[in-house]
Amino acid sequence: MKTTIYGYPKIGRYRELKTALESYWGGEITKEEMLSRANEVNQQRMKKYISHQIDLIPSGDFSLYDFVLDVSTMLDLIPERFRDVEDSLDQYFAMARGNQKAIACEMTKWFDTNYHYIVPELSDQVSLKKNHPLESYRHALKEFSLQTKPVLVGPFTFTYLSKIFKNVNGSVASEKAFESEKFEYYLNLVVEGYIQALKELEKEKCEYVQLDEPALVMDLSDNHKKLVLSIYDKIAKSLSSLKILIQTYYESITDYKELVFRLPVYGVGLDFVLGQENWGFIENFGFPSDKVLVAGLISGRDIWKTDFEEIMSHFKTIEKKVSLDRVILSNSSPLFHVPVTIEDEKGHLPEDLLTVLSFADEKLTELNMLKNIIEGKEKIPKSPLKEFFSKYENQEVRKKIQEIKSMHIERKTPFKERYEKQNSLLNLSHFPTTTIGSFPQTKELRKVRADYKAKKISQSEYDDYIKKQIENVIKVQEELGLDILVHGEFERSDMVEFFGEKLKGFAFTKNGWVQSYGSRCVRPPIIYGDVSRPEPMTLKEIVYAQSLTKKPVKGMLTGAVTILNWSFYRKDLPKEEIAYQIALALNEEVLDLQKAGIKIIQIDEPAFREGLPLKKSKQPHYLDWAVKAFRLSHFGVEDTTQIHTHMCYSEFDEIIEYIYKMDADVISIEASRSKGDIVSAFENFRYDKGIGLGVYDIHSPRVPTKEEMQEIVSRGLKVIDKGLFWINPDCGLKTRKWDEVIPSLRNMVEVAKTLREKV
Ligand code: GLN
Ligand code: ZN
Repeated sequence: MKTTIYGYPKIGRYRELKTALESYWGGEITKEEMLSRANEVNQQRMKKYISHQIDLIPSGDFSLYDFVLDVSTMLDLIPERFRDVEDSLDQYFAMARGNQKAIACEMTKWFDTNYHYIVPELSDQVSLKKNHPLESYRHALKEFSLQTKPVLVGPFTFTYLSKIFKNVNGSVASEKAFESEKFEYYLNLVVEGYIQALKELEKEKCEYVQLDEPALVMDLSDNHKKLVLSIYDKIAKSLSSLKILIQTYYESITDYKELVFRLPVYGVGLDFVLGQENWGFIENFGFPSDKVLVAGLISGRDIWKTDFEEIMSHFKTIEKKVSLDRVILSNSSPLFHVPVTIEDEKGHLPEDLLTVLSFADEKLTELNMLKNIIEGKEKIPKSPLKEFFSKYENQEVRKKIQEIKSMHIERKTPFKERYEKQNSLLNLSHFPTTTIGSFPQTKELRKVRADYKAKKISQSEYDDYIKKQIENVIKVQEELGLDILVHGEFERSDMVEFFGEKLKGFAFTKNGWVQSYGSRCVRPPIIYGDVSRPEPMTLKEIVYAQSLTKKPVKGMLTGAVTILNWSFYRKDLPKEEIAYQIALALNEEVLDLQKAGIKIIQIDEPAFREGLPLKKSKQPHYLDWAVKAFRLSHFGVEDTTQIHTHMCYSEFDEIIEYIYKMDADVISIEASRSKGDIVSAFENFRYDKGIGLGVYDIHSPRVPTKEEMQEIVSRGLKVIDKGLFWINPDCGLKTRKWDEVIPSLRNMVEVAKTLREKV
């Protein structure tokens, strides 16, 4: 029995890659310096693999920016607009980040994770340009005298995630490749490029290659499945000795029998953590005797210590059906979803919590332990998880959740009636204007917040500073003539962290960074105990803001589903119960805000869609509880309290009816980047509640013109009633500069005024 691993974090223990990249982009260091630092990070990773005596050590699972973009450049899929960038590395970064002349390639979420990849743009010209896997293979051979297993995204998944861009009457239209009629055509082009790359690897005596095919866990049509088989047939026929390992993860494989048994490859990897159904498949259908099973048993997605008792109780199935010399033990999915090591958390996180955590380094050790356990060289250790979690139960919360589970959560009065009451109380005319919550966060502000955290300034000094910011932003908004004001969120560095720090049951790491995209990292909170709210979280700032103005100020909360989806969470409870716990705490906050005279409360859910299960059959269950959690958070408010929500992503079509069921009085959503897409969602579903289509793209430093905004409004008004139409930016203004925000909002308010005159 062998072991293998892949996808160890790429960003460096202390985010060295981030520093190197950003210094290079900022012109502070040379390209050579940046590359040498990046190489150092990769060497450290390789040394980790080596020191843990992993049998099949990967190469090529490091990337300077994104591993999907690496394949695009491997296949020379460079969009026309970047062709004139001479230096290939700068061209690579330009595709990811845009340059003076050309906008960046689209970036989107990688499956159901918080990692973002650069969307490949397919073209008719695909050829092998730069054989990354071969380079990484040679590199490891030279530096460490190691025969590695190059890892790269497989051709099916790569094409599945690509887009096809075409010019339609002067403007660019795009289409997802897998929804396109030309999918097969492009897939075949891509496969030719892969074959060339694999042949070169074979020529240099590379023994194994790992092709990551997580798209094989998605709902595939019969045609797609046929294509998968046909491209791998082609690949197999073109090679003689190279052993191909197809790796699937994040869910169980679709059509196990068809794909696992018929794929002409050396081995297939299955995720036995998130793809629990895979156990059943092995039990029912066995495993083909001509293949190797890469058994993904050590979780790549959660941060908890491996429960060996649990694994071993299932492992019997594998022992029964597969001969162990054909089993390779592995992580269940790439390790870059978890931080590097718990070492840096010692003395920071509570001690008992530290004893139940396992980050990437610890998981490497666990993989070896697992091998020893299976081989009988080590006893099965008792998992400390159950005992740990049981220490952090809150019986009062649990009782309430039990009641809620069987309850129907609904507002007292239908939308129309309450909306009328609200608008007359708020004195709102047509096309009310508002923003999404945050206003620019300056360097100075960030420093004050950091000083406060480090206890360098006192509570009262800090409070005074925040108050000044609120005073200023209220004045600014009044001068601009916005209708519904916000307090600006100056006290928040991160919309989840802020609430997590105030709620019970959350912990925060010191150095638990996880790559989100490129050089960007996040430090997800850890939900380890039952959640409750010891005291109000936002009341002070909101009430102060309201005291400064006669106009309504919106209360501003982060929704339960978003908090949960952007955190690591305990694994002893179903996800929905944790969501209900958070929602219950938010509900207390909502009612407190209402009591304090706040008339509008916005509960942001930008990550609502993110938790959507990959398999269609599992989506309704998720959407049902996610909707219920949202409704629970505003349960029991008066008819006159107006509930808003905000979401920012463009793929609404499939979930629009659930967004409607959330029963917010007003929703603000992104529309400026997705152009017509969003409108088409409303063509198929009549959305007759308050809605604000983002008319100002806050992701760009440009000041949008009135005409542009007017154009988005006009499109929106074709499908949305003017009595329900709100005018707002796309998202929070936190990352923008004041001198961009002021003129943009001025234009936005002007647009609303003009519209009102017309009505
Ligand atoms: N209220 C938040 C803000 O304005 C919403 C952020 C988000 O949608 N990601 O910053
Ligand atoms: Zn947003």
